[in-house]
Amino acid sequence: MRSRKPQPPHSPSGASLPSLSLTLPSARRKTRTVSLGPVAVGGDSPVSVQSMTKTDTRDFDRTLSEIRALQVAGCDIVRVAVPDMAAAATLRQLKLHSPLPLVADIHFDHRLALAAIEAGVDGLRLNPGNIGPRWKVEEIAKAARDRGVVIRVGVNAGSLEKDLLARHGSPTPEAMVESAIRQVRILEELHFDRIKVSLKAFSLSLTVAANRLFSRQYDYPLHLGITAAGPTFAGTIRSAIGLGLLLAEGIGDTIRVSLTADPVEEVRVGHEVLHSLGLRQRGPTIVSCPSCGRAEIDIPSLVKEVQEKLQGLQEPLHIAVMGCPVNGPGEARAADVGIAGGKAVGLLFSRGQIVRKVAASELADALVEEVSKLGKGERSDALV
Ligand code: SF4
Repeated sequence: MRSRKPQPPHSPSGASLPSLSLTLPSARRKTRTVSLGPVAVGGDSPVSVQSMTKTDTRDFDRTLSEIRALQVAGCDIVRVAVPDMAAAATLRQLKLHSPLPLVADIHFDHRLALAAIEAGVDGLRLNPGNIGPRWKVEEIAKAARDRGVVIRVGVNAGSLEKDLLARHGSPTPEAMVESAIRQVRILEELHFDRIKVSLKAFSLSLTVAANRLFSRQYDYPLHLGITAAGPTFAGTIRSAIGLGLLLAEGIGDTIRVSLTADPVEEVRVGHEVLHSLGLRQRGPTIVSCPSCGRAEIDIPSLVKEVQEKLQGLQEPLHIAVMGCPVNGPGEARAADVGIAGGKAVGLLFSRGQIVRKVAASELADALVEEVSKLGKGERSDALV
């Protein structure tokens, strides 16, 4: 399906500015590729979106249903916590039924990693700050190598090794990179190369500096995230800035947005971050004006209704919902389907042409109908 051609942005004076897509993001940093089941991470693969279940992993039914909801939301890879052997015992069944590649999140006890590998997971997250001495990492690496499992060396500023903290004085970018590299070296010595790395902190400056430092020296794929970013509103902004800064520099191969919220929200935010940078698009882009005293239709309610009705749509369509003749016709004409509001009515556009004038109360349904026509035979059933 055709989507809106990028429009050259204009300065307030009307002069054309260079297209944002020419300068942002920078060329993607070249990394190696690792695969978790069918999902490739790194190299030229699209930046993937991950999340983590929030259920008790021992509760198979609830965990699987959360994984399924994540898949519907567009999650590419799912991670589950494995705090004990009972949780590890459910991994085999989860792996059997999970529609997404499964990663076991391991801390403290390397035997949990071995059990997870045995259960058939696609990946492990190990924390170098708490997994213990070298022989334990070696045991994990040997088992993971035999099973084709990917290991993420997941450094967190809050749980760095004591000797690194003592030497560096605090969790600096250098200390975080050193933590990752120490563990990467052990894996390399065992000829294990299915490696991803993450360097996360709550502090944006620390996270950004650590990832920049690492990516200047190594080409292992990077998993980006901002640790414990907070509840939805603050966490979304924090994550968007932190991940956005790095992704705009071409750094980052897979992302996880951490929110104190339903994990489906994490996936939505993750996609929106990638979408805003032009790195990936899933579902419609809604171009909507903020509304103001000129609007004679209720833009916030209309946008909410349109969003709800297009929820199942996966096509990368551009939809415009605009309040008045100031910018309305221009945006609506440039979109795949658009509305330009007038006096208690709206002009409906499809692919640049005016379709008809529609009463305000029927605008959302009319827009959805037009979207369905564009996708006839393809996606119309996806619309609710
Ligand atoms: Fe206001 Fe019209 Fe601009 Fe919407 S498009 S913000 S209603 S001036």
